[in-house]
Amino acid sequence: MVIKTLDIQTIRKDFPILQREVNGQPLVYLDNAATSQTPQQVIDVIVDYYQGYNANIHRGVHTLSQEATDAYEAARQKIQKHFNIAHSHEVIMTSGTTHGINLVATGFTSFLKKGDQIIVSAMEHHSNIVPWQMLCERTGAILKVVPMNLDGELVIEEYHKLLSDKTKLVFCNHVSNALGTINPIEEIIEAAHKVGAAVLIDGAQAAAHIKADLQALDVDFYTVSAHKMCGPTGVGMLYGKEEWLKKLPPYQGGGEMIAEVTFEKTTYADLPHKFEAGTPNICGGIAFGAALDYMNSIGFDAIAQYEDELLQYATEQLLAIDGLKIYGTPAHKTSVISFNIEGAHPYDIGTIVDKLGIAVRTGHHCAQPIMDFYKIPGTVRASFSFYNTREEVDKLVEGVKRARNMLL
Ligand SMILES: *Cc1c(COP(=O)(O)O)cnc(C)c1O
Repeated sequence: MVIKTLDIQTIRKDFPILQREVNGQPLVYLDNAATSQTPQQVIDVIVDYYQGYNANIHRGVHTLSQEATDAYEAARQKIQKHFNIAHSHEVIMTSGTTHGINLVATGFTSFLKKGDQIIVSAMEHHSNIVPWQMLCERTGAILKVVPMNLDGELVIEEYHKLLSDKTKLVFCNHVSNALGTINPIEEIIEAAHKVGAAVLIDGAQAAAHIKADLQALDVDFYTVSAHKMCGPTGVGMLYGKEEWLKKLPPYQGGGEMIAEVTFEKTTYADLPHKFEAGTPNICGGIAFGAALDYMNSIGFDAIAQYEDELLQYATEQLLAIDGLKIYGTPAHKTSVISFNIEGAHPYDIGTIVDKLGIAVRTGHHCAQPIMDFYKIPGTVRASFSFYNTREEVDKLVEGVKRARNMLL
């Protein structure tokens, strides 16, 4: 297959923020795993909404309300198509990944009993650990953890050993935000289904790099956040298989999610509205659809190929620095590099490179168990997007060298 080559300089013009300066230096934005930047095409959709047809949806007969409803539902269909989801009512609009996970974890309360088991991976984001611990506290279920190895890969044999008829749920991220590891989710899902367990995959970190085909994966639940894939903050989607969404109780009560309300009894609305209480992030949902259009116009194959080249280049250049160690060296990873320099604190490195206009993340990346595993307080994390360049990698490398000279 021939994959098109991206014209990065033209793409960069779509992102107004990339033209700005930070501390008198051109911005080098390498914190894409925390949130991605927003192209003008998506910003325009947000402005158009508030200038042209801001109205509440699904309720009004007036023209603005209908225009807003149509645009919002069109966005839901774009999400459905993008992730190859069978029915649009299996697309639940959320405020993001954290919301989606909590919706499922809360919903499972009445399905679990004492002694049931939930399996999570050792490399989860806190948003994919804490809700399950709370679920275990409510139900008496037990949390089991699939260990990882020093390369930052799951020890998959251990996962197979943990599975049994006690396993009711399995949770794993598609890609680790702290290390970039792409997890073998096909194998994880298939094996869980063999023992009758449901699987939730946290796709927050994968979605900007991998176009997941949710029907092919046969996954039960999948969550993403729009802000990690060129969309706005505060909006995301939870995919759930129809059979599960029908069984799960509503998460929040309120307007929009009911069929009929009396003080004696309320009946719930059909899917997806049963899980969409209250006025949603209407503009955000519409902009999420525009972000998917934008990313698809660039193409996920081309994005993956380009980011992989950038990752290889950055890995080589960084490893040439004395005392630099990269955490997370799995066979399959996205464009995330977590590293430390022996003898220097990650926070100090982050602060020094910020003075040079370079935005990287420092700390535990909401994945403290991974840091405990490596016995480190945190890392410096550079995460690359398709709008980053080799020149920016060079600036990062220069900046890290300077930090090293200042700190050691
Ligand atoms: C960002 C991220 C989350 C949390 O997403 P929110 O948008 O903050 O809800 C969860 N899991 C992973 C792997 C992430 O990268």
